[in-house]
Amino acid sequence: MSHPVLIVGASMGGLRTAEALRRFGYVGPITVIGDEPYAPYNRPPLSKEVLAETVSHEAVAFEQRESTADVNWVLGTRVESADLEHNIVTDANGDVHPYSALVIATGLRPRRLNVANGELRGRHAVRTLDDAIALRADLKPGARVVIVGAGFIGCEVAATARTLGCDVTVVAPGISPMQRSLGTELAAEMQRRHEAKGVVFRLKTAVTDLVGESAVEGVVLDDGTTVPCDVLVEAIGSHENTEWLEGNDLNLSAGVLVNNDLRAMRQNGVPWNNVFVVGDVARFPNPAYDDDARQIEHWNIPTETAKRVAQVFTEQAQGEFRPIPSFWTDQYDNHLLAYGVLALADDVKLIDGDITGDCVFGYYRSGKMVGVCGIGMRSVVQSYRANFV
Ligand SMILES: Cc1cc2nc3c(=O)[nH]c(=O)nc-3n(C[C@H](O)[C@H](O)[C@H](O)COP(=O)(O)OP(=O)(O)OC[C@H]3O[C@@H](n4cnc5c(N)ncnc54)[C@H](O)[C@@H]3O)c2cc1C
Repeated sequence: MSHPVLIVGASMGGLRTAEALRRFGYVGPITVIGDEPYAPYNRPPLSKEVLAETVSHEAVAFEQRESTADVNWVLGTRVESADLEHNIVTDANGDVHPYSALVIATGLRPRRLNVANGELRGRHAVRTLDDAIALRADLKPGARVVIVGAGFIGCEVAATARTLGCDVTVVAPGISPMQRSLGTELAAEMQRRHEAKGVVFRLKTAVTDLVGESAVEGVVLDDGTTVPCDVLVEAIGSHENTEWLEGNDLNLSAGVLVNNDLRAMRQNGVPWNNVFVVGDVARFPNPAYDDDARQIEHWNIPTETAKRVAQVFTEQAQGEFRPIPSFWTDQYDNHLLAYGVLALADDVKLIDGDITGDCVFGYYRSGKMVGVCGIGMRSVVQSYRANFV
């Protein structure tokens, strides 16, 4: 029997790749190796609706489709290294897995605060189901919660914790929450909406140290003040899970650099014919915008990249890969939906609605629309989607 297509990373990108391979007619063996003990599950609810309720695998698991019933899932197993010249990976038990093609789907893990007294109870990050289960247990009404980082995950956790009756302070270096993604005006409005719910922001500041003996009791800021807390959530960005790929002549400077067919690139720019990358860990060029390769850490990208890999692998790919990035975020009753690459904009304008209610912003680079984002007004936001195709 031929060696399988081996997918490393048993989350959304891995699952969607297995499904897409079957959909595009590949009938050979598929093995998926993942270090988490769970079958693939959906991460967005972990900082939103599920975090406000009971966090369980059942609540977030992806449906297992008939088409992938014969996939060999090797869960709870970490891949330690890869040898791309010899088409093998080796797991933490020392088992060697040969492959005919390799799909890298190992995603990201949270960055943590670099502080001297780090081993304290009450410190959290949110990436995995186990992270969310642990955090949920600490989000008791009246708990003093400090969230470091005011990106989407930090702000979603702030909203959920506030809804659960916690006292919430958000500490971040920027001038307003989610400002890098949303632009100044919309970010300032989102800050106002959080403050109206009772969230306190300590902006333009950073954490230098933690207070506490065995459990976290406070964070020390760079202005010398201390914010007391019972729960600390670190939402300060991510590291790519690429250490297992080192020594293979890949460009791992930010994710894994791939070409437009999602084939991993050697340092000299020549692609590995049978090594593909999907999901958050892929840094790919998108000619819909420019020649720069970027990681796009949004939910639709695992599905889009998986489909492309299956098309390329089964020799059915046509034209360029030009996915439209899309994200949403839910904070209280504010439902934001976006298409495009908002961060590329040099000009952001309110194009519909009222900033204090439902509204839509357009994001422009040199006069050309590169993104759209709305609070509510989903159909209006969706109507701009065609601009990016
Ligand atoms: C809390 C949270 C909320 C989010 N909310 C939104 C949202 O509202 N909207 C949106 O657009 N996007 C959201 N996202 C982003 C979205 O969930 C991600 O884009 C998506 O999960 C990426 O899937 P992936 O398969 O590429 O990577 P991941 O989901 O990170 O999966 C990678 C898997 O590989 C495993 N792995 C890593 N290294 C190894 C190894 N060496 N061996 C074996 N296995 C390994 C990891 O443990 C993990 O299971 C959110 C993400 C999080 C964490």
